[in-house]
Amino acid sequence: MQLLSVQNPVLKKGVHYITQDYKTREDANHEGIDMIGKNKATDDIIAISDGIVYDTGYNDKAGYYVELQHQNNLITRYLHMKKNTIKVKKDDIVVKGQTLGKMGSTGDSTGAHLHFAVFTLDRIPLDPLPYLQGKLEFNSDYFRIFVKGVQSSLGAKVDGLPGKETLKKTITVSNKVNRKHKVVKFIQDYLYNLGYTEVGPSDGIAGPKFTKAVKHFQKDNGCASDGIITKQNKTWKKLLKLL
Ligand SMILES: [Zn+2]
Repeated sequence: MQLLSVQNPVLKKGVHYITQDYKTREDANHEGIDMIGKNKATDDIIAISDGIVYDTGYNDKAGYYVELQHQNNLITRYLHMKKNTIKVKKDDIVVKGQTLGKMGSTGDSTGAHLHFAVFTLDRIPLDPLPYLQGKLEFNSDYFRIFVKGVQSSLGAKVDGLPGKETLKKTITVSNKVNRKHKVVKFIQDYLYNLGYTEVGPSDGIAGPKFTKAVKHFQKDNGCASDGIITKQNKTWKKLLKLL
């Protein structure tokens, strides 16, 4: 049992022991992280970030559950909660750290624990670990982090506010041009956070996964879907929200 160091807690006392890891593979899918709390006991379950209650209810597998939708549209799921302890209802606005209910063992569960999961709106599971560790966030401040990263890596004034000066400094990025430029990592993290998970974990190299995610972003934003980020094809403007 692993004690996890957590930046964004989902258990009120802030102590998280992992009892089962996230893994998606053919022989044993586990699309979330199982955990127990302080003294390896139960705890109150809290919202990892601000959001709105997307759904709450009961089914035989999840038991009593709460789902939150966050500002970047990702969904967090909190399963196996104790009966009659859920404190929120659909469409409630919740803030980071707000109590959702108590850890329990309802549904398909053999002992009290929290199964915590992160999904895109179209139900693609994501590894919850970087979110718990604060390496990825759910709120729109992530845009600010992206803009600052772009500005610093391109030598523009770093104020987190994109404008003409930032745009002027932008460079062409593709699998052929500037494929290992410092800015690539920030684009990767940002696309991942927007739900373009095909980009994979950021490695700072504009490879095939990067091109695929850029094409997807371009298609969704009315840009020519060629996987090349330039000023001319409007992709930079869309990424920086200047269009
Ligand atoms: Zn589980």
